[in-house]
Amino acid sequence: MAVLLDEDMQCMKKDWEYLVSVAPRFMGTAGERDSIHYIVDQIKKADLTPVLQTFSYEGWQMNGPAELFVETPEQLKIETSVLLGSGTTQNAAVQGTLLFIGETIIWNMYEWLRFGIVDGNGELVGYISGRPDGQAISQTLAEGNSDLPHFAIGMKESQLLLNYIKEKKNVTVRGALDTTKTGEKEGNNIRVLYNTKNTAAGKILICAHYDTMFNTPGAYDNASGVAVLLNLAALLKKYNIRKNVELVFMGAEEWNLAGSDAYAQHLVATGKEKIDFVINIDGLGRGNVLEAWVGPEKVERELLHFFNQVYKRDIYVKTPPPPGSDHTPFYNLGIPVCMFTINDQEIIHSSNDILHENTFTNMREFIHILVELLKHMGVISES
Ligand SMILES: [Zn+2]
Repeated sequence: MAVLLDEDMQCMKKDWEYLVSVAPRFMGTAGERDSIHYIVDQIKKADLTPVLQTFSYEGWQMNGPAELFVETPEQLKIETSVLLGSGTTQNAAVQGTLLFIGETIIWNMYEWLRFGIVDGNGELVGYISGRPDGQAISQTLAEGNSDLPHFAIGMKESQLLLNYIKEKKNVTVRGALDTTKTGEKEGNNIRVLYNTKNTAAGKILICAHYDTMFNTPGAYDNASGVAVLLNLAALLKKYNIRKNVELVFMGAEEWNLAGSDAYAQHLVATGKEKIDFVINIDGLGRGNVLEAWVGPEKVERELLHFFNQVYKRDIYVKTPPPPGSDHTPFYNLGIPVCMFTINDQEIIHSSNDILHENTFTNMREFIHILVELLKHMGVISES
């Protein structure tokens, strides 16, 4: 078997380390540009042809760390992040009474507590969103952006605020964050096509996003997936390609799926390319639970058959596939999809998402799984 040579694995490790070294790879940053150059270079070195698919989006950036304080009933500094697309308070802080509103839904699936900050005139001047588990992290705003500042806090802190309110205490807070809308920007998906002679057939699309949140090395989310995909690109050359395959390194996933959304829009606009199946790799973490977010049901059964009878490994399935990664725009077009991830939620979108040996061990196993799955699906065969 051609897969899993030691030198291939060393390449995969180098790719992974490089992507982490240039992080954060947030859209519009030098880290994003360095990642694109690196991926393009590696693909060319494998004697393949990268094709850039350019798309535009309204840019946004954070200009510094956010701060949030409780002033009454006791003085506290609260660890805070910012929801992506948040408005700014610039240097002047927002200040006011805390109002419990209810909840906000992140990515159409996570329920976060929602608080407002009401100023002396009774106007709502800012929001605080409380994560239901773990520490303060950034996530994308449901509406993509807002004119008002949006702080994001962890579970412990949001429970504390909620308790004050339940105890009918007068809670006042003060916070500052500095963001800028940076106007129209350009992003890139990097496509690599392997065509068989059969031009009428559809294709299998395998993707992973190379960008990160603004505050993280992104070793797990998602340098792990990109390094696997880069090495798959080289590895596939050792097999007979029996169905059309396209690998896509997606941009701006963290920015409301801007890259995969642009790809899906391109599919609709041209109406020519047929995609039979999308495999999305997003976050191979340190844990041992391999999850597949898959749909429709028929594809779930095929996948279960593979993991129960062929590869024989535990798999945890979520169906229909939750949104929140690059498979979503394709699934919304009626294309069967499967996103693979290995759990590491405690470090997602944080500065703790760093290189770890267990992550690499999982990447090694996963590329093996992927090759076996592609063989099982008749996409590739031993040459
Ligand atoms: Zn991700």
